Amino acid sequence: MGRLVRSISEDGAVLMMAADTTDIVAEAQRIHGTTKVVSAALGRLLTGASFMGQMMKEEKGSVTLRVNGGGPAGTVLAVSDSLGNVRGYAANPKVELPLRPDGKLDVGGAVGKDGYLGVIRDFGEGEPYSGQIPLVSGEIAEDITSYYAISEQIPTVCALGVLVNPDQSIACAGGFLIQLLPAADGETVAAVEGCLEGLRPVTAMLADGMSPEEICKTVLKAFPMEILDSFEIGYRCGCSRSRVERALLSAGKKELEEMAADPITTVTCQFCGQKYEFTPEQLKKLLREAEEQ
Ligand SMILES: [Zn+2]
Repeated sequence: MGRLVRSISEDGAVLMMAADTTDIVAEAQRIHGTTKVVSAALGRLLTGASFMGQMMKEEKGSVTLRVNGGGPAGTVLAVSDSLGNVRGYAANPKVELPLRPDGKLDVGGAVGKDGYLGVIRDFGEGEPYSGQIPLVSGEIAEDITSYYAISEQIPTVCALGVLVNPDQSIACAGGFLIQLLPAADGETVAAVEGCLEGLRPVTAMLADGMSPEEICKTVLKAFPMEILDSFEIGYRCGCSRSRVERALLSAGKKELEEMAADPITTVTCQFCGQKYEFTPEQLKKLLREAEEQ
């Protein structure tokens, strides 16, 4: 399991969340067989989605982050429920790219920056809210920061990181998200900026074995930070046979009739790889039931 911690400064001016998502990104890597650079891109987006999902107050709410940057990884998508449990995929999980000149994985190169970060907030009822911003760098954390600045006018600092071992397994993954609350003033802003100067990468902190609590207190060292709560988070897919049936029906009658000509139709969940098989008889029964309704 991963873990997400929320903390707040004693004066109520700064909120900070930090998460260790190593197990979540490892699970995503196992499911999708992602290469190093795609593990990093997807892992960062999953971690960012978890923060944004966790902030939703609606129990049945969910957040979808979709990055389309025109890079070789194609669309990268992550969904979080309101507890911070996530799932996701990259259209092309097997992209290989040379390291950047600074020795880091070229996430921006894999994602591309010629496109958009789309955010959909589904509240579980009523119309979902959706917004999008042009990508800043395709490095994900900067793009999420920019989303908050442009779409929600909330001053935000986001750091996300994934460290991949030579054998493609995930050494560590996680990040943090800092937001200024209405009680923040110019002094708060300057103090937060001071904390961020010369800060080590979040992966270095995780690799040292620092917990999310320790990351909160270390990063915002100028503030007395109070830990509010801690949540276990996981890679969780909510797919089921009945959901797949609904998706098949939404594809339309003609499509379903064509599928029923095949001896067996296999539908694979994009998020978890679970396979659902349908015989022609089962597809025809679905069609009949839909027509009766
Ligand atoms: Zn699934």
